[in-house]
Amino acid sequence: MKASEATEHYFSIAADHLELPSWLRKLLSTPKREVTVQVPCEMDDGRIETFLGYRVQHDNARGPMKGGLRYHPDVDLDEVRSLASLMTWKTAVVNLPYGGAKGGVCVDPRTLSRKELERLTRAFVDGIHDIIGPDTDIPAPDMGTTHEVMSWIRNQWEKYHGFNPAVITGKPVEEYGAKGREEATGRGVGILAVKLIRRLGRKPDTCRTAVQGFGNVGSHAVKFLHESAFPIVAVSDVSGCYYNAKGIDVPDLLRHTLRNNGSLKDYPNADRLESDELLTLDIDMLIPAALGGVIHDGNVDKIKAKIILEGANGPTLPSADERLLQNGVCVLPDILANAGGVTVSYFEWVQNRQHYSWSLDRVRQELDRTLSEAFENVWQTSVQTKVSLRTAAFMLAIKRVQRATELAGFRS
Ligand code: NAD
Repeated sequence: MKASEATEHYFSIAADHLELPSWLRKLLSTPKREVTVQVPCEMDDGRIETFLGYRVQHDNARGPMKGGLRYHPDVDLDEVRSLASLMTWKTAVVNLPYGGAKGGVCVDPRTLSRKELERLTRAFVDGIHDIIGPDTDIPAPDMGTTHEVMSWIRNQWEKYHGFNPAVITGKPVEEYGAKGREEATGRGVGILAVKLIRRLGRKPDTCRTAVQGFGNVGSHAVKFLHESAFPIVAVSDVSGCYYNAKGIDVPDLLRHTLRNNGSLKDYPNADRLESDELLTLDIDMLIPAALGGVIHDGNVDKIKAKIILEGANGPTLPSADERLLQNGVCVLPDILANAGGVTVSYFEWVQNRQHYSWSLDRVRQELDRTLSEAFENVWQTSVQTKVSLRTAAFMLAIKRVQRATELAGFRS
């Protein structure tokens, strides 16, 4: 199944529950604009390599469009289209005044030197600078792009349009970035885990948890969950899975990754398992925070965790999602579970526009408030309409986008 079909599937279930009129269904299933650009880049040895870059703008009924830029060899128009639409629902579910977009370049950034990466980024901005801007479409980091890449984007865009750091979020803190942006997605996953298990009548210290992926999202989620008394029994990254049935010593693990360039490789104080074994361990809560499509027909019935929080975008394929529901697993969907990042990106944009910088405490408080409100809205929708949390989140988001579309004059 293509990535965009999976998103469309979840959208359709919620649209059916809402009895969404067919004209609106079609409008909201069609991206506003899809742009493919040539990204020529001079390599360090003098060769010219040409890459493909994309920006898909899905919907702007609720405000300027917002969404990350991904540098990865699997980036294609279909993946970007799916992620752009997810951003429309994500910003709506947490009630940010934004629409949704996404972009990327089909490239493996690990094969480029820093100078090549900078030249590629500037060439990409040359291709899309006219369609992004603080009031139209505001990019941010995603897989393979860093705060340094965001700085180059801002600098290149400003050469055309003049000073305006609000054109992009996820910038370095000393260059108009927001304090707390880097930790925001993982912290948000943690905040929502606490809310969810409370609603399910569980206590943190009885929720043995495994986290797949130990990058930006996974590592900050583990840190927050550990501080909130969840036993972390397994973590994984590309180097493999590390398991300790009695609970991993998280401060010790973090010290190891600090010495090891962020990698879990060779962590000595846990058993080594194959990467995928993490998903089917005998645990209470599972947090996929790495790749899309990792929960599928082949492993869904082996999953023992009764609670799943989708830190990654699109980790569950639709057929597996149905099985999880039948198996009594409670899934907090990606459009809510990993919305902490875009929420603090919004705070960064607000600060840039105010020419004022918030304290880390204020950022954390506002993040907690925004996510708590969104969680309660989704939970109540789910209880009242007797649908899964995923369908409830989509319903809430679609209703908000529908209202904005109608207020803008589109009615039938
Ligand atoms: P990242 O590149 O910082 O980290 C990815 C992690 O996944 C790394 O630790 C990597 O080793 C690990 N990984 C890769 N393949 C793996 C495998 N087969 N098994 C186990 N681990 C594996 O990326 P990130 O920013 O943490 O993003 C992770 C996911 O969260 C993506 O789906 C991304 O779209 C989503 N997301 C990120 C943000 C954000 O603010 N960073 C916001 C919303 C959603």
